Amino acid sequence: MHINNVLIYNFRNIEKLSLELNNGINIFYGNNAQGKTSFLEAIYICGTGRSHRTNYDRELIKFNESDAHIKLDVSDEFSDFKIDLHMNINKKKGIAIDSVPLKKLGELFGHLLLVIFSPEDLELVKGSPMIRRRYIDMELCQISSIYYYKLQQYYKVLKQRNNLLKSIVKNKDLIDSLDVWDYQLIEYGIDIVKLRMEFIENIQLLAGNIYRDITNGNEELKILYKPSVNENNYESKLLKNRDRDIILGSTNIGIHKDEMMFYVNGFDLRSYGSQGQQRSCALSMKLAEVELIKQVKNRTPILLLDDILSELDKNRQEFVLQKIDKIQTIITTTGSYDIISQRLKNSFVFYVENGNITFEN
Ligand code: ATP
Ligand code: MG
Repeated sequence: MHINNVLIYNFRNIEKLSLELNNGINIFYGNNAQGKTSFLEAIYICGTGRSHRTNYDRELIKFNESDAHIKLDVSDEFSDFKIDLHMNINKKKGIAIDSVPLKKLGELFGHLLLVIFSPEDLELVKGSPMIRRRYIDMELCQISSIYYYKLQQYYKVLKQRNNLLKSIVKNKDLIDSLDVWDYQLIEYGIDIVKLRMEFIENIQLLAGNIYRDITNGNEELKILYKPSVNENNYESKLLKNRDRDIILGSTNIGIHKDEMMFYVNGFDLRSYGSQGQQRSCALSMKLAEVELIKQVKNRTPILLLDDILSELDKNRQEFVLQKIDKIQTIITTTGSYDIISQRLKNSFVFYVENGNITFEN
């Protein structure tokens, strides 16, 4: 799939912008703090409904403005559609597809398929478990509407259960009502564990192959899903933790505590991996995502590469550039874009300065 046109008003430091994009490679270059990431972020929000960096819409609206708009014209393998996104300082954001407003943000998933590569990807390996769970959730939501639904229900039930736990401290009689919430939590939780298991097995296969290629067959990457509960022990674990949950006023076991582990040649990558190995792992995960989306959705996602090429050595740069062949890609880079533009002859080049973007060829 590809984006044909982008319109942006008052988004971060971009006041007004209208651009036509190339179906292949698009290079956005410019100095630091000029608007390159802002441009990518505007596109990313149209795919997922949220920023890849912040949860606060007001940070995304241009200073001293109350509204921001992003409009995209997209063609995929089957149809053309328009995405219209409106943010307001005081309201929830509104999104429309082909002028039909979406009732829920979740309905946006699966239309504009994106994979973003950013310097923060390394956190996928090095960062907290929350970052890995967010990765799993965001990717699965893009490819599975069932997953999105189950996850939403799970968190609704979790919130109710936590509210009840807090009330039980004051009124012990309420403890009997916990069973109802536990039952639902287990039902949604188990389905989510199964979908996560299947997803990580698929990603593990694809990323394993890519990692092997990057390291010329010298290193073996294994990705392991560590669910904190399973079908057989969910109920008993919830019961066992009940007293503790009541004291703490929150649910301390469940899929919101799941973890994902990475091993290279049998050792734990988080503790023992070099920076380069960790980077290769993150890169393999992202490239695997591209493959998985192709397989599951029968469509090619659009790639957003935020200033990542300069961080890769020559071999890995080549590897990525060869993988993005025939995929619409938006690349941002500071200053020198020589290597990329030489390698990618038919690319469109844009210069970014102070929130203005100009087409150069
Ligand atoms: P770098 O090469 O350093 O990554 P960049 O070109 O990607 O730079 P952006 O992250 O797009 O830069 O930021 C562009 C500018 O927008 C920065 O000066 C930033 O401080 C500014 N900015 C961020 N949020 C807003 C906002 N809500 N309103 C106006 N300007 C903003
Ligand atoms: Mg940037």
